[in-house]
Amino acid sequence: MNAPWIVGNWKLHGDRPKLLQFSQVFADRKQSIALSVPATLLGTEYAIALGAQDVSAHKHGAYTGEISAEMYLETGAKFSLIGHSERRQYHGETDASVNAKVLRCLSVNLLPVICVGETESEFDAGRSAEVVRAQLLAALDGVASDAEFVVAYEPVWAIGTGKSATAEIAQAVHAGIRATLASICDEFASKKILYGGSVKPENAKELLAQPDINGALVGGASLEIDSFAGIVAAAEEN
Ligand code: PEP
Repeated sequence: MNAPWIVGNWKLHGDRPKLLQFSQVFADRKQSIALSVPATLLGTEYAIALGAQDVSAHKHGAYTGEISAEMYLETGAKFSLIGHSERRQYHGETDASVNAKVLRCLSVNLLPVICVGETESEFDAGRSAEVVRAQLLAALDGVASDAEFVVAYEPVWAIGTGKSATAEIAQAVHAGIRATLASICDEFASKKILYGGSVKPENAKELLAQPDINGALVGGASLEIDSFAGIVAAAEEN
């Protein structure tokens, strides 16, 4: 597991000049950071690892507008987010489609970064662990014990709100995720589990110091070099 992995999620933002700038600034950190960018920014090699934000659940066919795991792999993408809460909320992503997409990624060795997380009302009802466990078990249905994947815990109430989970709350959920992974098979117990949800330079160090937090998925703060660099520096201090 070793060094934390810091992944920026650019969502519907960014352009090639900005990506080139990031790639120059972070060129020496290819192993420890990555950016999940709009599909249109893939296909050119940069000195930074790039990934997709979603993949089709299908290999090919009459699915206008979709991009398959194979196609992403061909662009040089190394990974894809799967099941981001914005996909679940606005695009009808379900546990079943998340599972299909995870299996598609694994079939071509595109690393799936599986996003899970409870809504605010589920959090308020004390159901975080239960919701996250159910999402994870569904996402990993049929996944082989030697599969490579990463899990990202992103409480929906913390995404883009400026209201991060405390390190204590995040660690408790991450420990639960690790226990769920271990209950599936021994090999899964050592998977990287990223935390996402209003990670900033100011809270990154404490979050990343937690034993079961192995990196961060960063939205808003990944859009500016200074804030992203602050998070990367905080990760390196631990
Ligand atoms: C995200 O969208 O994955 C995310 C974590 O966003 P933010 O950091 O802006 O909360």
